[in-house]
Amino acid sequence: MIIILKDNADKRQLDALKRWVETQNVHVHQSEGAHQTILGLVGDTVRIDIDMIKQLEIVEDVRRIQEPFKSANRKFHPMDTVINVGGVPVGDGSLCIIAGPCSIESESQIMTVARSVKKSGASMLRGGAFKPRTSPYSFQGMRDEGIKLLLQAGKETGLPVVTEVMDLSQLDLFTDVDVIQVGARNMQNFELLKELGHCDKPILLKRGLSATYQELLMSAEYILANGNDNVILCERGVRTFENYTRNTLDISMIPAIKELSHLPVIIDPSHAAGMSRFVSPLSRAAVAAGTDGLIIEVHNDPARAKCDGPQSLTMEAFDSLTKELNKLHELIKASKIK
Ligand code: PEP
Ligand code: MN
Repeated sequence: MIIILKDNADKRQLDALKRWVETQNVHVHQSEGAHQTILGLVGDTVRIDIDMIKQLEIVEDVRRIQEPFKSANRKFHPMDTVINVGGVPVGDGSLCIIAGPCSIESESQIMTVARSVKKSGASMLRGGAFKPRTSPYSFQGMRDEGIKLLLQAGKETGLPVVTEVMDLSQLDLFTDVDVIQVGARNMQNFELLKELGHCDKPILLKRGLSATYQELLMSAEYILANGNDNVILCERGVRTFENYTRNTLDISMIPAIKELSHLPVIIDPSHAAGMSRFVSPLSRAAVAAGTDGLIIEVHNDPARAKCDGPQSLTMEAFDSLTKELNKLHELIKASKIK
């Protein structure tokens, strides 16, 4: 349920209303927009008398939110949410580019890639330490050693770091990580999502292989409902009947999620395409469609990568792509065709 307040609502009456709502065992979230202040009510609101609230002097309107996602809903929070990742904004209209290898393989590998992507203008460094692999015989990641190396690379380059957690038992290792990634396969690991709701770190939540927008937003809701407002949603391609590409990049996700939710949306063209030569066109499409950012796999020697080499860009290819994407982003902003 949302309560839309009149302009310049009396502060004392507003505080009294908020206190009363809290006595109904409902949590209140106040959102200050450019034109409106909204109180979002989260919890069981069935017993709250809408007509009684509507009659209050400071209230413009009261509406129930029909969708099952409440805190993630744009109606609940009309302004875009901007997430601050160690000084890097996500969702403020700038283009955030996260880059790095699929997995951390050695000190020299992660340091080489980190220095190079930093020079090319990346805003954050990615690298997997715990890898969800289809085969148990494939490289599973460097685990805690990988996290240490990633943190070292982040520290040296000044780039915030993004890495995936696969299980609750690993969370203690993520204390110094800037963004915790929840991978596509874990999008509906509800126990993990609840626990991530108890920290205040930004969470990069990837869309499941065949998850609907509503399912993705319900997973985000688990994190928000438990107290963590810092969720970045990520489209990484979904399963369709097409198997020429690894997955099918759902570009519609960008405008659709932006309509439904206030959370930032970023695109992972690498896992969508599965082929490095498609990363550039898919990235351009995402920028044109209004993405808040991209997460791109980059390797110093893709042919020898332990994971996802075929979809990884060389450092040189990433350098030209970044330049191109920044130009495109400026053009789109200037022409206001977004
Ligand atoms: C990854 O980012 O390397 C990864 C495994 O992603 P996804 O969960 O989207 O497959
Ligand atoms: Mn990968």
